[in-house]
Amino acid sequence: MSGIAYDDGNIFAKILRGEIPCHRVYEDADTLAFMDVMPQAPGHLLVIPKQPSRNMLDADPAVLAKTIAVVQKLARAAQDAFDADGIYIAQFNEPAAGQTVFHLHFHIVPRHEGEALKPHSGKMEDNEILATNAEKIIGELGN
Ligand code: AMP
Repeated sequence: MSGIAYDDGNIFAKILRGEIPCHRVYEDADTLAFMDVMPQAPGHLLVIPKQPSRNMLDADPAVLAKTIAVVQKLARAAQDAFDADGIYIAQFNEPAAGQTVFHLHFHIVPRHEGEALKPHSGKMEDNEILATNAEKIIGELGN
């Protein structure tokens, strides 16, 4: 269990409270998914539980179970939306492991053979491209 308390000033808590916008892809009672603003590849999205936890180390296992089911659903949708050869799923715990936002989240990144990942937290993507990519994934969710 992480010894560091959850801080609700983090950017994903602000998104959950509606204080800052996001390109939403999916929402249910327990989970929200939205596009990563600095994608490592087209279609990079994030899945977060609504219940606060800093990362996986302090999360409720019941919340984790619900969240990972949504990760699977969205990974399949992203694979179809981007005709991906593979799907990279990542989750970091604490700064030493690469975590920069301290509300539990899972990265879903469509991958194509021979295409390198862009840097983590690299360049901001254009809003229109993020909106278009969100719509592509949403379009696959019912299928
Ligand atoms: P990490 O905590 O290292 O797993 O990564 C946090 C991720 O959040 C990075 O990939 C950032 O590009 C992304 N990110 C940061 N701020 C926002 C935001 N306002 N909306 C969507 N994604 C964000």
